[in-house]
Amino acid sequence: MEVSFTKEVEALRLGAGETFHGEGILAITKALLQSGVAYVGGYQGAPVSHLLDVMVQAEPYMKELGVHVEACANEASAAAMLGASIHYPLRGAVTWKSIVGTNVAADALSNLSSPGVVGGALIVVGEDYGEGASVIQERTHAYALKSSMLMLDPRPELGNMVRIVEHAFRLSEASNMPAMLELRIRACHVRGSFVCKDNVAPRISTQHTMAEPAPFDYARLAHPPVTFGHEKLKSGERIPAARRYIVAEALNEHHAGTRTDIGLIVQGGLYNTLIRALQQLGLADAFGASELPLLVLNVTYPIVPDEVVAFAAGKRAVMVIEEGQPEYIERDILAALHRAGATTALHGKDLLQMAGEYTVELMAAGLASLLERHQPDVDTRPTRDWLAANVARRAEVAAQLGRAVPARPPGFCIGCPERPVFAALKLAQQDVGPVHVAADIGCHALATFEPFSSGHSILGYGMSLASSAGVAPMMKRRVLSIMGDGGFWHNGLLTGVQSSLFNGDDSVLLIMKNGYTSATGTQDIISTPDEEEKARAPDRQQSLVDRNTTIESTLKGLGVQWMRTVHTYRVAEMKKTLQEAFTTDFAGLKVIIAEGECQLERQRRVRPWIASLLKRGKRVVRVKYGVDEDVCTGDHACIRLSGCPTLTLKDNPDPLKLDPVATVIDGCVGCGLCGENAHAATLCPSFYRGEVVQNARWHERVLASLRSAIVQRLQAA
Ligand code: SF4
Ligand code: SF4
Repeated sequence: MEVSFTKEVEALRLGAGETFHGEGILAITKALLQSGVAYVGGYQGAPVSHLLDVMVQAEPYMKELGVHVEACANEASAAAMLGASIHYPLRGAVTWKSIVGTNVAADALSNLSSPGVVGGALIVVGEDYGEGASVIQERTHAYALKSSMLMLDPRPELGNMVRIVEHAFRLSEASNMPAMLELRIRACHVRGSFVCKDNVAPRISTQHTMAEPAPFDYARLAHPPVTFGHEKLKSGERIPAARRYIVAEALNEHHAGTRTDIGLIVQGGLYNTLIRALQQLGLADAFGASELPLLVLNVTYPIVPDEVVAFAAGKRAVMVIEEGQPEYIERDILAALHRAGATTALHGKDLLQMAGEYTVELMAAGLASLLERHQPDVDTRPTRDWLAANVARRAEVAAQLGRAVPARPPGFCIGCPERPVFAALKLAQQDVGPVHVAADIGCHALATFEPFSSGHSILGYGMSLASSAGVAPMMKRRVLSIMGDGGFWHNGLLTGVQSSLFNGDDSVLLIMKNGYTSATGTQDIISTPDEEEKARAPDRQQSLVDRNTTIESTLKGLGVQWMRTVHTYRVAEMKKTLQEAFTTDFAGLKVIIAEGECQLERQRRVRPWIASLLKRGKRVVRVKYGVDEDVCTGDHACIRLSGCPTLTLKDNPDPLKLDPVATVIDGCVGCGLCGENAHAATLCPSFYRGEVVQNARWHERVLASLRSAIVQRLQAA
């Protein structure tokens, strides 16, 4: 990837007494090194990509420390990596986006949790939940429950987050349970500072390797009959050991408060929002001093029943603030109170919304309900008025607009090589008829939004072809499965291609070969163009990724007989190839490889290169596209076929015409799609291609002046 994390890598080197300033996710990364982690792995995905990206770029320093860093093929391989901690006193950490990544890793997690670990094992999951999330809304907590893993949810303050990471390894070792640490989007990006400790070089490391493997120990495998014993160990020894550690080290935080009649038990990650909501009610200040007693759960599984019962003792009511459904923590607490014979009333989801992100407004409404029932001396009217005013204001804005504010879905980047494929697919379907499209995870999923609205289902990352296996035999017309090269390597090769070939499925697979896992931050994959190639040809737009033929040779080796490679920007050729795949007599798997380097990554490389050319006074030519407003008919067929944000609308300069005309604004990177679409779809001839010449040669300047003078004369005439 072209993004540089030089500053972040430097921050990892900070020593004892120095102050770290920055984002939560980087603080966690530093905490791993302070904890003596020996190996780190993971699979990229928001909001935790940063952890692995920085670790990968810090490779020389990691080597110095003896820490092994593995950019894993998928989350399953990352989880399996933690197997190193089953036998050896090695501390390991892996990371991925959850819930999707945890689903992929589930098999290895079960098999890890059953024998347990001797070295601390930590999984940093990006809990992609709530506003801004990009995956299914489910909770990782379920995995901690079913596999008996620790679940940490640190209060989002950098010092506390670092403290919890350091304890996580020790807690994991004390209980033999792997630990999961969930970080919501806001926790990853919260900024702050903490005073560092020195990094700890692991005792066993790539610098100090082990001479012999561990002796054979059947109890550390994960198949029956030993697994029956493991199950008993989980409830009989490991969870009680974890509870003892949680209490001894005061991992959960108690804030006494002054109104001791009622109390709040909150997931650590929701603490900041809770304080803001309490401020609205006049029950907290900006520094977190709350009038209501708080039990902040930095560890949400296992719950310590004695701790909860002690907190509830003497209180009329306690409310559990737990985001998402179902209410796992609330049920745990309810059971603990009930078993202890406590009479304290327990509230939670009865006063708070069951699903969705807990925003300040939502929490404030729930708290107001709690106070009205159990603390009537608190005047909740200002808060109720504030909430009602917010609702009224939104309604007023909607009324003024005449309708709800239209959603603005995300779209492909300007010049994205995947956009032309969907333009070609639209055109191909005009001839062959509509086809069922099995979509996938990746940038190409942006085609599910307008103007393409393409895709019938998404079953998982790299799962499109596998998901077509049931529907394809039921369709008269062939089904199209689309996946990216990231998805292909993550899962698609085995779950999709191998299965399709084995079963002799008659299907069409389109692989977007853009060279990176672009949607997660353009991380490298095995088919990424190599650095030498990039350095040799920094400006190559359409044929840089084709130099790496790993995907093609893998498919060939597996026995794919029908395979075509088409540059994505060649819309007419792509349309023809799609039509051929849909109609050919060949009945096996047909693969189209759509080549075109990720434009975001290309621009990151090309821009500094162009700047350096300009600085050296070299001639630089940039291509731009435009629309002749006098020719544009205003039917906007080009926009419906493109969706490029720089191909937009402006007022029609012709006073006799009402429809706005198409126009290309400044951001156009000259990808050529406008021209290709105009040609492939036989659009109106209003598009033109211009060349912007910088540091032009003397004869070009003279020619330009001459042309300009002639044009001015003609215009005047
Ligand atoms: S990141 Fe790359 S592949 Fe993804 S939308 Fe942008 S240009 Fe396209
Ligand atoms: S050529 Fe067209 S599609 Fe490509 S960046 Fe410019 S306006 Fe967008």
